[in-house]
Amino acid sequence: MSRGFYIGRFQPYHNGHQSVLERIAEQVDEIVIGVGSAQLSHELENPFTAGERVLMITRSLTGLHCPFYVIPIEDIQRNALWVAHVRSMTPPFDTIYSNNPLVMQLFAEAGCTVCATEMYQRDTHSGTEVRNRILKGEPWEHLVPRAVVQVIKEIRGIERLQQIAKKD
Ligand code: ATP
Ligand code: MG
Repeated sequence: MSRGFYIGRFQPYHNGHQSVLERIAEQVDEIVIGVGSAQLSHELENPFTAGERVLMITRSLTGLHCPFYVIPIEDIQRNALWVAHVRSMTPPFDTIYSNNPLVMQLFAEAGCTVCATEMYQRDTHSGTEVRNRILKGEPWEHLVPRAVVQVIKEIRGIERLQQIAKKD
């Protein structure tokens, strides 16, 4: 049984992430999805809680023909131990899929097989772009799966971002 690992902050989960996961689903038997910086929320760069991000990912992937596990992972301030920390929280996996240079380096040093992922319209599809658009009141809904639009509306995420952007 081959299991692939994919990690991001998913602030929020968007169509770029979805496209990568659909591709990984064709290559492995099961996918382990790590929700990184799980402890962070209610910040401009990290507005959503780990639970909210789990909801976004799980609902967006209901049609995926590949079993998946969504696991929140808090930061530890020690890169040399980070892979062991991740492994302590996740089902066993053999291949890690990433484009993040530090993530790739740490897993390679730990002896994992590291696969680079293809970028999907990266100029428009990034968490930063989606958060900026939400803040500015510009259209953002087309950049994320429909399930993510529903979750963000349900938790009043637009109002949250605009509120925490204010100065006291
Ligand atoms: P932010 O702008 O907040 O950093 P992000 O879009 O980079 O958000 P992350 O959660 O930081 O999203 O990234 C998780 C993983 O998804 C990273 O490996 C990142 O390279 C990858 N990724 C991000 N955007 C895309 C995209 N458009 N296509 C393919 N992979 C992407
Ligand atoms: Mg990023």
